[in-house]
Amino acid sequence: MEKDPQPGLSPIGQALAVLGDRWVLLILQRAFLHHVRTYAGWRDHLEISDSVLASRLKELVAQGVFMRVTHRNGRARHEYRLTARGLDIWALLVAIHSWERDWTGRTCLPLIHDTCEDEARPYLACGECREPMSARDTDTVREPPAIFATIGTPPPQRRRTVRPDDGADATGYCSDSMKILGDRWSTMVLAAAFLGTRRFGDFQARLRIAPSVLTDRLRRFVGLGVFRCAGGDYRLTEKGLAFFEVFAFLVDWAQREFAAPPGSVLTIIHRPCGAALAPVLVCTACHQPLNRREIRFARGH
Ligand SMILES: [Zn+2]
Ligand SMILES: [Zn+2]
Repeated sequence: MEKDPQPGLSPIGQALAVLGDRWVLLILQRAFLHHVRTYAGWRDHLEISDSVLASRLKELVAQGVFMRVTHRNGRARHEYRLTARGLDIWALLVAIHSWERDWTGRTCLPLIHDTCEDEARPYLACGECREPMSARDTDTVREPPAIFATIGTPPPQRRRTVRPDDGADATGYCSDSMKILGDRWSTMVLAAAFLGTRRFGDFQARLRIAPSVLTDRLRRFVGLGVFRCAGGDYRLTEKGLAFFEVFAFLVDWAQREFAAPPGSVLTIIHRPCGAALAPVLVCTACHQPLNRREIRFARGH
């Protein structure tokens, strides 16, 4: 039943077509963190309109992230269960949580590693050599720059663009991340920066982005402290570089779930060991890789 949401797009483009939306991130976050499975459950948790919730759930089912199961005891009741593709998003959500905690000064629910019963403050490591991994020690190999745009330029927006202050959520969850991921052009600008793009003209040429949109996103990223502008170059700050943790899991999920059309193959290499990107999250307390079934969020009050 799983289908590629935007055939012809690169895996990253397809992943963004699924996840590049703040409501989708909030729906998934509630599914993982609060085990919400029903329409009424999300409506209670999120200040979301019926039409938006219904359309997002429908899309997520069509994209193979949720599976709709109907129970009949008395009247029909629908439950949305995460599929294997959906469950696989957990590491990306944990990476978002961890980046928000480290870089936004926001109070986040602690993440508990059941194996060591300690608070897991995960760090990104290479699945091959198990050493910590950052944007600085990876190389990216991609097919010719002429076809850079197919790496993931999103299709024409069918959803409205997020406003800069639109990420606010009652729980404060991932509000800065949503300013990046909840808007596909923003994510593409950041992806291009991770792939080495620095100059306005290069962003414009590689992404085929309108100058006004690019100016807006660059200004927003400078405001968020993700980029700094120096001598006409836009460079990632430490906060921006740290977002690589989120980006790595986005790319990893994208590459596992979606087929790459010809010309859009992108490989990220961990330079010290030469292995292709296989990110894992490692627990700072016990140094074991985290796995989905062994972590939980401490309950808030
Ligand atoms: Zn490695
Ligand atoms: Zn641990």
